[in-house]
Amino acid sequence: MRRMTGAEVRQSFLDFFASKDHLIVPSASLVPVGDSTLLLTNAGMNQFKSIFLGLEEPRHPRVTDAQKCMRVSGHLNDLENVGPSPYHHTFFEMMGNWSFGDYYKAEAIRWAWELVTQVWGMDPERLWATVFEDDEGDLPADAEAESYWLGETDVNRDQVMRCGRKDNFWSMGPVGPCGPCSEIHYDRGPEYCDKADVPGHVCQVNGDCTRFLEIWNLVFIQYNRDAAGVLVDLPAKHIDTGLGLDRVTAISQGVAANYDTDLFRPIFRRVQELLGHSDEQMKQNVVPYRVIADHGRAVTFLVGDGVIPGNEGRNYVLRMILRRAVRFGRKIGFTEPFLGEVAQTVIEMFGGHYADLTRRREFVLNIIRQEEERFQRTLDVGLAQLDEVMSGLRNKGVTAIPGVDAFRLYDTFGFPLDLTRDVATEHGFGVDEAGFKAALDEQKARGRATHQFVFDGEELELYARLLEELKAKGRLGPDGVEYLARDQMELETTTLAILREGKPVTQAKEGDEVEVVLAATPYYVESGGQVSDTGVLAWYEGDEEEPRWEVEVLDMRQPVPGLIVHLGRVTRGRIVVDEPVWAIVDAERRIDTARNHTATHLLHSELRYILGEHVQQAGSLVQADRLRFDFSHGAMLTQDELDAVERSVNDAILANYPLESAEMGYQEAVAAGAMALFGEKYGDRVRVIKIGIPEEPFSQELCGGTHVLQTGDIGLFRILSEGSVGAGIRRIEAVSGTAAQRLVQKRLGVLDAAATHLGSAPEEVDRAVLRLMGELHDRQKEIAELQRELARLEFESLLQQVRDVAGVQVLAARVRAANTETLREMTDWFRNRLGSIAIVLGAVINDKPSFVAAVTPDLVERGLKAGTLVQEVARVVGGGGGGRPTLAQAGGRDPNRLDEALALVPKLVTDILAAGR
Ligand SMILES: [Zn+2]
Ligand SMILES: [Zn+2]
Repeated sequence: MRRMTGAEVRQSFLDFFASKDHLIVPSASLVPVGDSTLLLTNAGMNQFKSIFLGLEEPRHPRVTDAQKCMRVSGHLNDLENVGPSPYHHTFFEMMGNWSFGDYYKAEAIRWAWELVTQVWGMDPERLWATVFEDDEGDLPADAEAESYWLGETDVNRDQVMRCGRKDNFWSMGPVGPCGPCSEIHYDRGPEYCDKADVPGHVCQVNGDCTRFLEIWNLVFIQYNRDAAGVLVDLPAKHIDTGLGLDRVTAISQGVAANYDTDLFRPIFRRVQELLGHSDEQMKQNVVPYRVIADHGRAVTFLVGDGVIPGNEGRNYVLRMILRRAVRFGRKIGFTEPFLGEVAQTVIEMFGGHYADLTRRREFVLNIIRQEEERFQRTLDVGLAQLDEVMSGLRNKGVTAIPGVDAFRLYDTFGFPLDLTRDVATEHGFGVDEAGFKAALDEQKARGRATHQFVFDGEELELYARLLEELKAKGRLGPDGVEYLARDQMELETTTLAILREGKPVTQAKEGDEVEVVLAATPYYVESGGQVSDTGVLAWYEGDEEEPRWEVEVLDMRQPVPGLIVHLGRVTRGRIVVDEPVWAIVDAERRIDTARNHTATHLLHSELRYILGEHVQQAGSLVQADRLRFDFSHGAMLTQDELDAVERSVNDAILANYPLESAEMGYQEAVAAGAMALFGEKYGDRVRVIKIGIPEEPFSQELCGGTHVLQTGDIGLFRILSEGSVGAGIRRIEAVSGTAAQRLVQKRLGVLDAAATHLGSAPEEVDRAVLRLMGELHDRQKEIAELQRELARLEFESLLQQVRDVAGVQVLAARVRAANTETLREMTDWFRNRLGSIAIVLGAVINDKPSFVAAVTPDLVERGLKAGTLVQEVARVVGGGGGGRPTLAQAGGRDPNRLDEALALVPKLVTDILAAGR
């Protein structure tokens, strides 16, 4: 095969398919958009899923791309293989070509063969092809694909094999599109076998050694599997292929492992340089080097796609990978943060093709540095803790770290379970993972504030079917429900479907919870951080004042593209399918929300202006009553900075700049300087919101939300709080419009009232308060001094009450004390002053009698025990207690009998001493 760099392999793949009329599309984000079933993008086909499901029209019938993929989600244990094994990776690039109901098996096979043999020059003698033959005997063998291999290519006849379901049948899930596949394997030669010394080993395709590499999988999507498990022929058949870029590059460069290619090597060299290692040292530490190289790529790409380290979902995956890399870095001598340097190298290596990485360079480096620094700080503390736990267990002969301990390390010291497991394994310990999980679940249950709605496959099926039916009946056009949220707040339309408890019904009555589908809707559906609209659906007959029926809309959702659902409750009458309806959005709430949304854009642009261009949006929430904005910035904002930001936003409001929204191509928008945010799915055409003078807007963001017409509509903007929500991420909460006005009114009201109480002018309230606090402080000091004097006097007078009982000094007295703590302290004074004594002090605390008894050790030896004394005494007041022989306490119910109880003490002492003699 021709020798090529990884970038050349990538580009030649794309160029080749472009020459076959394929549209080159950019890689989708590693954060799957609009797919709640997936943690991270793990295959090239993810972004085309809704096309295969028939829910979305393709932009072009043939496309090709290089897709960023991560495979760690779901199987966190796989991470342990990365490093020790030269073949496991977390992040990888998948090259693919797709046909959406266009060309099929013949072209897919012919072109794949042409690319690998003619363009790349792979030796046909080394290539093997597999086709599907059902090992369960239910489905026909893929003779069609086989005939193309034999007829359309010059592959050796005896190098075309038939394989079963495990290797050669692909499904999207338990239901949905599926079909046979055909793979190309490359024979690297017997010298690449890693099982040569295993007796009886035979090298083979889909075998267990490293001689044969699967390089390309061609999937022929020809069936749909229905809920009953029956395969139905698809009307339109598709091609979905995946080629591993790392593997092909390794073949091209004649190296054994992907790590030896130029897709990893520069990272190794950078690490070597930073550590000043010799080649020999690098070889000896190959596992940590691999971990750093693999995880360094993964971390850079994840942050590049807007994932921020955290404790849930993909944020947790990132944190875990980053921390694992740091720990392996420490093993080979890094004492200072180094991952930022690694990320810089990764950006240099990949930023040419993945331009977002270059564009977000500052953001990526900042997030990684901050998280690493933070982790380094906690690592030392956590490792010491783990050491302590392990040595405690070793003494007890326990070999597994209890789940609660692993959880405490996770919860308090930010130790991912994997890290604990890694360290434990090194020291010969296991980890009780079930116990860890139980503790984690318990914490989650405690902290669960909001219910997150996640569709499962079956529900999605239901909605997809409903959408299909409505389209088939001509009730909905190809684009589905007409979405008019950006232009309208009410409209007249038709009810198309009603669901009750997840099932379609023809009508629903007062009190029913329903999901309603309309032909068109003015309701905004949550996206881009802006919450869904609420309002009512109703019908008025003639000019009647009261509606015939009404549904209160509480929430909105879009389970599949094109199907918009209103969630609510029937509050009056009966809603019926196929009848006219007025859809009316709660206008006040919508306008307040729009104010906050536009204010969020202003805040974003002013933060960048005042703090610097490194500020990137990391998340936002736009509601009617407030807004929340998360952004990257390394330090807490000073009061001056906050004041400046608030002032500039208000200046922009007062300037009453117009807003303009424009539709344009994505590339065009980004080239014009519009800020694209993470985690948004941008199609071909995007909407850009511009604020400022139209020729030179100071704010341009890709945004699908609702906004005010000019900034003056916002009225007023006020920051409520600023804080940290993670390493390098700050959060500002703020209000605008109505809520800001209410806030100011309320705060000024409180200020006026305080001024009245203080008898000062509102402007002087702070000084008046400071003066009062000063006075209060002086008084408190005085009171404390007096209390000490009082206590000393009381102590002196109590000393007079110490009696000699049968040769033992005994004190039983009623005192004043605010709590039992004070009582215990007082017994100390007597013990210190008199050396040998038995004391019972009683006090009424919170209307209840309380006792503390203390006996010096010499008297304990003679049989006097504080616990016995206090128990007998407390019995009189209807209570009980206990403690150590030298110190015990008790409580009771009847404060009126306190003195009576204390009077018992001398006799008790006499009796006990007599009995002990
Ligand atoms: Zn072998
Ligand atoms: Zn926006």
